[in-house]
Order: sequence, then structure tokens, then C-alpha cells
Amino acid sequence: METLGETTPGPIPADPPPAPAPGRPEASEPPPDAPEPTPLPGPRSGQAGPPSFYGLFPAELEDLLEARGHERFRARQILDWVYHKRIREPALMANLSRALKDELSTIVSFDLPETAEIRVSPGNDAVKFVLRLIDGSRIESVAMRSRRGVTLCVSSQAGCGMGCVFCATGQMGLVRNLRAEEIVGQIERMLDATGWQDPGFHLVFMGMGEPLANYAQVLRAIRILHDPAGLSIGARRITVSTVGLVPQIEKLAREGLPLGLAISLHASTDEKRGQIVPLNRRYSLDSILNAARDYAETTGRRVTLEYTLLSGVNDTREDAYGLAAWARRLPSKINLIPYNPVPGLPWKRPDEESVNRFVEWLAPRAPSVTVRWSQGGEIGAACGQLGARPS
Ligand code: SAH
Ligand code: SF4
Repeated sequence: METLGETTPGPIPADPPPAPAPGRPEASEPPPDAPEPTPLPGPRSGQAGPPSFYGLFPAELEDLLEARGHERFRARQILDWVYHKRIREPALMANLSRALKDELSTIVSFDLPETAEIRVSPGNDAVKFVLRLIDGSRIESVAMRSRRGVTLCVSSQAGCGMGCVFCATGQMGLVRNLRAEEIVGQIERMLDATGWQDPGFHLVFMGMGEPLANYAQVLRAIRILHDPAGLSIGARRITVSTVGLVPQIEKLAREGLPLGLAISLHASTDEKRGQIVPLNRRYSLDSILNAARDYAETTGRRVTLEYTLLSGVNDTREDAYGLAAWARRLPSKINLIPYNPVPGLPWKRPDEESVNRFVEWLAPRAPSVTVRWSQGGEIGAACGQLGARPS
């Protein structure tokens, strides 16, 4: 929803009290800085077996085929069967040689993460998947469909180590990083189950985990997904959402891919942000601003500022003015997310009137403001509800 409107600004109220942390002690330590905090499991969790098809670049598949005595061009045929015709059974890949049909499953594995659970929203516009990985870890992915097209929301980690106090995934801690094939595999699972393979779909890294804390595997997955021989998803249709890992934002700007970047801001002073986003104590708002501005300049893309509205925490007039002032300092657009309550956590969503009031304070002063009334709330698939367990 694009919401723009004129309002008469009133006086800016005095400093509000620090953000309360109702019923929950503040996280004491910022999370570790290590970008790749846990080892990845082996290709098949210690079992001997062929590498996953979904984690390979076309040239790597060509090399594997050649090493087993097959022609390199067979790789393109196989990619076409899997990504365009959605056939994964070698025997059905009609244009392959008999020898390759027989051998293919010993050269690469076409296994996808298993579906543990699927929930469909009443309007059939959001589908939440709980997927089980090879080592038993569970992740969640969501497919959404609206007038603006299809959006697939994927996880980059099982759990998350960043500890944002309001986030369901953050409460789980980090279980492990996903491998590139597990990221690509989520998309394949969702496309198989929904049949929503619209060539212009959007992909957002807004499921479980902090994508830039699993940088190498996330970038590998993005390049595989972007490849014209595969799903061929345009870089502009892919958005990486980050809590603000500054060195990785700087690196991402230099990958030569104009990916969408979303920064989870949630507050415009270090004091307030530090209370709800522990990582802010490592990377201040100023350092994030510099990195985000550099990203916008290098890629030519406006940066999205995500701002989850928490009742009584970051939804005052002063918060709105602070956010607007921040947003004006770089090419940006603001995306407000009214909080999706998490069972067992004390944070509340502001009522609709408060959200509208916040927009009226913000919109005349900020470049562009949209409100994301998350789809999928009824099925526990809205932003930040991933990983929530009923209390
Ligand atoms: N780790 C990344 C991406 C995943 S979360 C990040 O933090 O950016 C996607 C967005 O949803 C983030 O802006 C996150 O702060 C926000 N979010 C988390 N929990 C939420 C909740 N319960 N309600 C609304 N937004 C939430
Ligand atoms: Fe991790 Fe993002 Fe949740 Fe923070 S909001 S805990 S970074 S998933």
C-alpha cells in the first residue's frame, strides 16, 4: 500500500523514555561478528553420494559430466528439464543418451528438502512450508501471490544468531547456515507445490536467518538462481534483507549484481536500536548509513528501510521524524511492517489508527513510504513469525 498524505506537523514531543522491554531482559551481548559462524554439514551429511544438482553452476555440471565421459552440452539439456520443464527423473529426460539416463543419478543428486508441513491461507494467497533438511534441521519458506505477482520468501539459516528481541527466529538462536543447494531447493519445492512459476517472480531473503551472516552460500545460491540456463531470476527481482552487517554490505555492493537491499532499521537512534537489535552495539547507525549509501551509489538501487512498528516502543511522533530524517540522508524508500505478534513474546502491534498516524507523520517528510500488512498471518507465515512455536 503506497500511503502518502499531507499533515500539519505539531510540536516534537520531549524525549520518550527508553524503549521498554516488557517482561524480557535485554540481550546483554551483541552477537558474534563472525560472518560464517557454524560449519556446514558435508554435501550429504557425511554420507557418500553425488553432489546436489541445485548447488552447481552450469560449468561445474559440465565438468562433472565430462569427467564421466559425457558431452558437455548435456548439462544445458538437464538444466532445461529440471528448471524449465520441472522434470527430475532422468529416465524421463527424453533427449539424453541412454547411457546418461542410466548414470545421471550417480553423477548428481536431485533430492530436495523434504516437506514436513504445508499450510495454505484461507484466500489461497500464501503458502507456508516447513522443510526438513538432510540433518533433520527445519526451516520455513513462504510463497505469496498478490496482484503484484508472486513473491517467494526463503530462509538462509536454520534459526538466527542475531537475537533481535522481537523476532521469533531470533529466539531460536543459530542452528546452522544453509548450503546453496538448500536455498535453491526451497524455491524448487515451492514452485513444484504451488505451480506459481511466473517468469517475473520476486525472491526475498526474509525468511529465517540473517543472509549476510551466511554470505558465501547465499551469494552462490543467488548466482545459480540468476544464471540464464537455470531459473534466470533477474538481480533486480532479488532482495537481500539484513539487520546491518556493515562489512558484508560493503562487499555486496561490489559483486556486480544490482540486488535489492533492505536494511532492518526499526529505530533511528543508537540508544533505542541497541535495545531491540543487539547487533547495533557493534555496527552503529552511522556506519550502516555509510555502507547503505555506498551500496545505493554503487548499484544505482534505492535501499529499502524496513521498520517494524512495535506498540509503545518505536511508534511515536519523534520516532517518525527521526526515521524520516534518516531516510532523507540516502536514496531510500521506507517499508513499515506493523508487528506480527509472536506467541510467548510481550511485544504488541500498534492498532490501525496508530499505524496511520505514524504514516501521516512520516510521509510528508520521507521519500517514499509503504506499509506491509503481511500476508500469511493466519498461518504463522508473516514476517518474523517463522520459527514461532505456540507457547
Ligand atoms: N534477518 C534479516 C531478514 C529476515 S526478517 C533481517 O533481519 O533483515 C525480515 C524482516 O521482518 C526484518 O526487517 C525483521 O526485523 C522483521 N521482523 C522480524 N520479526 C518480526 C515480527 N514479528 N513482525 C514484523 N516484522 C518482523
Ligand atoms: Fe535474525 Fe532478522 Fe530475526 Fe534479527 S530480525 S533475529 S537478524 S532473522
